[in-house]
Amino acid sequence: MKPAPFAYKKARSLDEAIALLGEHKDARLLAGGQSLIATLNMRLSAPTLLIDINGIGGLDRIEEKNGAIEIGALVRHAQAERSDMIAKRVPLIARAMPHIGHAAIRNRGTLGGSIAFADPAAELPACLMALDGEVEASGPRGKRTIKSQDFFTGLFETALGPQEMLTAIRIPLATADTRVGFAELARRHGDYAIVGLAASARSDGKGLKDLRLSFFGAGDTPSRARKAEIVLESGDVDGAVAQLDLDPHDDVQATAAVKKHLAGVLLRRVAKQLMEPRA
Ligand code: FAD
Repeated sequence: MKPAPFAYKKARSLDEAIALLGEHKDARLLAGGQSLIATLNMRLSAPTLLIDINGIGGLDRIEEKNGAIEIGALVRHAQAERSDMIAKRVPLIARAMPHIGHAAIRNRGTLGGSIAFADPAAELPACLMALDGEVEASGPRGKRTIKSQDFFTGLFETALGPQEMLTAIRIPLATADTRVGFAELARRHGDYAIVGLAASARSDGKGLKDLRLSFFGAGDTPSRARKAEIVLESGDVDGAVAQLDLDPHDDVQATAAVKKHLAGVLLRRVAKQLMEPRA
């Protein structure tokens, strides 16, 4: 199918993009286009204007700032995958990257686009939540910060206002006692996950603290399993699986019951990664 007709404008600055969003209420921002173009082609969305943000300078940087890593909205998945800084300082993101689609998609798709699109089966929103990260949103009244737990508000819905653009994400730097775990189940490598789990914790070698289990493909938004977190912190893996507080829905990939079972399988795998970190 072909998309409905639309106009196209390449914004040269953040201010221009924000002004265009104000003037055209049904406009859409175009980043890597890897999700947006498919929704246009399937006529799931029919904006009258696409605002291309790829010409806005300064949004493709990965920087260490005030104890966090700041990743600009236009950093491509492939750029993050190759980044030594990300591998060392936010290893959970490095582990998740190879699971996002295929190389061609990762060459164009952006971290900002993935977080803003808020697909419930996507890896990065769940990683952001597991890492207690935050989003920088820019709008007509300047910049504001939104914590990850407040950002994902529903199915493909976020706390971004109609005239706001995601300009960066910030993630606290890993420290010597940081432990991370990641696993997903997909029909083929590169497909969207049926269910996945991104996790982070701290450990002094005797147990886990500040554990955050963030499931994807298991609800409308990335889902914390808070009861299971408490039980797993005490070292009881079987108990954590038994208390897995998730409420997935049936979808095109699997029934809710299958997803819940698979989430338990992933929890066992990730618990092992957290408790027995690689050398
Ligand atoms: P676009 O497609 O350009 O935009 C997506 C949406 O986000 C649009 O509504 C757009 O207006 C909005 N948007 C974009 N940037 C911003 C911004 N800075 N601020 C506010 N709104 C913004 N993703 C996964 O996570 N896991 C997968 O396994 C996976 N598999 C894929 C397989 C295929 C075959 C394809 C085609 C895509 C797949 N993707 C997957 C999606 C891919 O990761 C996309 O890159 C990502 O979802 C969107 O990023 P984008 O830069 O392409 O955004």
